Amino acid sequence: MRMSGTSGYALMQIRCSQTQTWRTVSTHLTAISMSSESWEELATKRTEWRTAVKTGLENFESTRLEELDSKRQHRKTRPKPSYDYTYDSNGNLYCASCNRTFKSKFGFASHARAHARRDQGIS
Ligand SMILES: [Zn+2]
Repeated sequence: MRMSGTSGYALMQIRCSQTQTWRTVSTHLTAISMSSESWEELATKRTEWRTAVKTGLENFESTRLEELDSKRQHRKTRPKPSYDYTYDSNGNLYCASCNRTFKSKFGFASHARAHARRDQGIS
């Protein structure tokens, strides 16, 4: 079953099956801005319930898409890292800090990022 205007993902998230725990259902109710204490009363009024679920899902979905767009925008505007490739006399890439040699620029870049993380204290 699919409601128009809402994605299958959102419907899957809100659908309450017997295998889901109350915590999961409560999380989904919170996601669509519905109180977990008063939802049963609202559910007895079918028209209002359906309107509340549909509106909540639309808001949830638009917020989710905006967050995804913002994350993508942040990722796309982040400056690309630049590496100072160091070559020995034989033309092999090597690390100036620990003299490790590499077969590819990708391996060198990964190693340089690991050095940067270690320097920042992130393991
Ligand atoms: Zn190194």
